[in-house]
This record gives sequence, structure tokens and C-alpha cells, in this order.
Amino acid sequence: MPKNYMENIVDHLLPSILENFENICLCKQCLEDIKAFSLNHLPPLYVSTSQGYSYAKSNELDRQFKINVTQKIVEAIEIVQNNKRHDMK
Ligand SMILES: [Zn+2]
Repeated sequence: MPKNYMENIVDHLLPSILENFENICLCKQCLEDIKAFSLNHLPPLYVSTSQGYSYAKSNELDRQFKINVTQKIVEAIEIVQNNKRHDMK
């Protein structure tokens, strides 16, 4: 089963994006929903293991690509926070 490296890229970018948000829920469920939503709205990225590893770890990700992924993650955060699947704490 090939690995979708978009997942690594989302994992890589998510923490710094979350820092720009205040008063959002960062529980496991919301984080999982944010990731799932992002990945559902981004094209999967299947590459060979060694290539994928360096690609996902690289800070040299193409600028426009990074902007596109960041936009989807921001969208995901907003949608998940407006539709939390659990009660307010
Ligand atoms: Zn939550």
C-alpha cells in the first residue's frame, strides 16, 4: 500500500498554522478532523519511500504548493471549529 505523503506534509505544516489561531479546540478529535478534512480536499501524493521522505521533511517545498496546502488546512480548521463533533468544554 503506497503511503500518501500529503499526510506528512499536513503534519509538518499544521503546528505552525495552529499557532495563528486563538481560542480553538486542540483536542485529539478536532485535530483528527482537521487532518482528515485537509487530506480529503488535497490531492494525494504518492511517491517512492526515499523520495517521499526527503520531500516531506524538506523545508524547500515549492512556495505555491505550500500556500495551497496551507489554505486548505486553514479552511479545515475553520470548518471543524464551527462544527465540533463534541460538546463545548
Ligand atoms: Zn475538540
